[in-house]
Amino acid sequence: MAFARSFSCEHCGVEVSLDAPGTTHRNHCPSCLWSRHLDRNVPGDRKADCSGGMEPIAVTVRGEGRWVLIHRCTNCGRLRLNKTAGDDNVLLLMRLAALPLTMPFIPFAAEPETEANGNGNGNGSHPAPRKPRARKAKA
Ligand SMILES: [Zn+2]
Ligand SMILES: [Zn+2]
Repeated sequence: MAFARSFSCEHCGVEVSLDAPGTTHRNHCPSCLWSRHLDRNVPGDRKADCSGGMEPIAVTVRGEGRWVLIHRCTNCGRLRLNKTAGDDNVLLLMRLAALPLTMPFIPFAAEPETEANGNGNGNGSHPAPRKPRARKAKA
């Protein structure tokens, strides 16, 4: 393979050119959409010590009305947003986008507890402790 700048996908093995249409930093495989946890803060900084495989778990749309992939690191669990590139696998993108539609909104078994706003009506249920995840911009 003769790409000037390229990497081979750890997930599907495809050789990927870093120069992708529509994005300055190709950070995921256009074929399987998997990425690698290489960047810590800014796309392209390559400062992460993790290098775990990042699974594409969803797509969303941000500002400019363009599709953005949400990757989750299979090693450390970190989530990242990555712009889609012009040659990404559209079929896979569609499947990710449609995935929630194939599932029930709320499975009956997992109904969320209603907010405890009834006063005095001794409710035995205590809300599960939910720690807000610490979000720090600077390390
Ligand atoms: Zn791949
Ligand atoms: Zn990671």
